[in-house]
Amino acid sequence: MLVVMQAHASEEQVRAVCQKIEAMGYRAHAMPGAQRTAIGITGNQGEIEPGTLEEMLGVQELIRVSKPYKLVSRDIKQDNTVIRFAGTEATIGGPGLAIVAGPCAIENREQAFAVAERVCRAGAQFFRGGAYKPRTSPYSFQGLGEQGLQIMAEIRQQFGMKIITEAIDQESLELVEEYADVIQIGARNMQNFSLLKRAGRCKKPVLLKRGMSATLEEFLMAAEYVMSEGNYNVVLCERGVRTFADHTRNTLDLSLVPAVQRLSHLPILVDPSHGTGKRNKVTPLSRAAVAVGADGLMVEVHHQPDLALSDGMQSLYPEQFDELMVQIRQIAPVVGRTVPGIGRQTPAVTARPPRTAAATPAAD
Ligand code: PEP
Ligand code: MN
Repeated sequence: MLVVMQAHASEEQVRAVCQKIEAMGYRAHAMPGAQRTAIGITGNQGEIEPGTLEEMLGVQELIRVSKPYKLVSRDIKQDNTVIRFAGTEATIGGPGLAIVAGPCAIENREQAFAVAERVCRAGAQFFRGGAYKPRTSPYSFQGLGEQGLQIMAEIRQQFGMKIITEAIDQESLELVEEYADVIQIGARNMQNFSLLKRAGRCKKPVLLKRGMSATLEEFLMAAEYVMSEGNYNVVLCERGVRTFADHTRNTLDLSLVPAVQRLSHLPILVDPSHGTGKRNKVTPLSRAAVAVGADGLMVEVHHQPDLALSDGMQSLYPEQFDELMVQIRQIAPVVGRTVPGIGRQTPAVTARPPRTAAATPAAD
């Protein structure tokens, strides 16, 4: 059930309706929008008796929600969710594209700083790097843990980029919440419902990556888990799904972007690094992601990809990231977007659409 308030309903009237809902034993989620506030009701097992709510001051109408998700839906909030961060113009979901870049994993201080300096200079507003790595093999590098988080906190201090990093369980979530600006929940945990609920009680935004074989509805329901606990700052991220195709690590499903935007007000980023697993495909699919209307990109960059402890094959060289930024700065205005950068921008590299193999940077 959704309570739609009148356009001019006062805050007091919204509060009174929320209190009434809570007194009925349910949870009220007031979602202010540009036109009007709507209040989602969760926690009900069956139908809600609309009687008393319908008659309250400021209420326009009650809408029954037939979808299995409510808070992620455009039914409750028609305008896009824009996530803002103190002390920076960077947003996620606004007209400016959010560019998240950095290594797969924080390996040591020198590596992290070397990459951070380059991606900041190229225009990334968000720095990514795993301190807790959900590796397929237990013998692979598992991340530096809290030490990695400390390195990223220093990077935020020095470069002004906001930090996005993954929490893999309840324990790491507590530390990630403390150090990071955005908490990442990875593909492998997209349906870890207790972790999603715990992230829903965090005060920081959550970046939720699509599970390896998750449908659109399953993905939205995972986001609903986070929102149902009161954290409405959720960012979705398409990172490819498993298919029969074997020329890439995953199949990047760009059609998910308009599909999500039709149903949900939440921002959606695209990760062409995990989405392809191949360095030479990251820039072309980044261009496509911006063109399809994504709210930003998450890209892995390493200053020495051949020596990377994880995902070297899909990590761009810093020069390739410079070139990627040049190209998306050209595409962004075509779809009504800008590319705000916080770092000093790289000197103009001659932009050229790499249509041929020769035009694509050789290293792979
Ligand atoms: C990552 O972004 O570092 C990562 C592990 O991605 P995913 O969860 O999409 O595999
Ligand atoms: Mn990775």
